[in-house]
Amino acid sequence: MQETGRRGRKLGVMGGTFDPIHHGHLVAASEVANRFALDEVIFVPTGQPWQKADKQVSPAEDRYLMTVIATASNPSFSVSRADIDREKVTYTVDTLREMRDRHPDAELYFITGADALANILTWQDWAELFELARFVGVSRPGYELNTDHLEEHLRDLPADAVTMVEIPALAISSSECRRRAAENRPVWYLVPDGVVQYISKRHLYVPAGAEGS
Ligand code: ATP
Ligand code: MG
Repeated sequence: MQETGRRGRKLGVMGGTFDPIHHGHLVAASEVANRFALDEVIFVPTGQPWQKADKQVSPAEDRYLMTVIATASNPSFSVSRADIDREKVTYTVDTLREMRDRHPDAELYFITGADALANILTWQDWAELFELARFVGVSRPGYELNTDHLEEHLRDLPADAVTMVEIPALAISSSECRRRAAENRPVWYLVPDGVVQYISKRHLYVPAGAEGS
């Protein structure tokens, strides 16, 4: 990795639905922060996620609060309301433009799962994306980044524009946590303790009609 001057801070930006945030997200952020000597990782819960527009997603405020609870104890983790306060559908390019405006001197590292990375780079205005940030794809068990269709983009980019980082095997997903909560099975240790309690307090993921049973 090339050394950049001390002038600008290095900021990780971790976008996600975080419905709920789980230890996979936290381990990934921690691992990437260490690998790239990031000063801070900003978690950015999505507003209305365009990839999930057809699916039921918990209220933004609940996802935001769970993200705050999960990251509160780490002094180099923080949470941004940028996407949830934006009225329109979230695109990565909007998130990064806003982060650049808020932190004009920072070097941005967008951290995302390998699965999500492939989509972002395929569908969006990729040329601008690479001007805004470096991309770090975290490999998650069961997902392999197929870069074949990205080759023509990647060929013209600096070698450090996209880096893949392997995360210690954590097969945790939010979908599995939601499924477990819906079936009254434990989510302890998959998500931070405070998030377990928040899910229960707010009756998140309980099937409609089953509340209070
Ligand atoms: P869902 O199961 O609903 O898709 P998710 O677990 O993928 O949820 P998201 O909020 O969609 O959670 O994920 C935010 C980002 O974190 C995505 O880029 C995703 O690929 C990545 N990610 C999710 N789980 C893990 C994990 N266990 N290890 C590493 N990265 C992960
Ligand atoms: Mg996902």
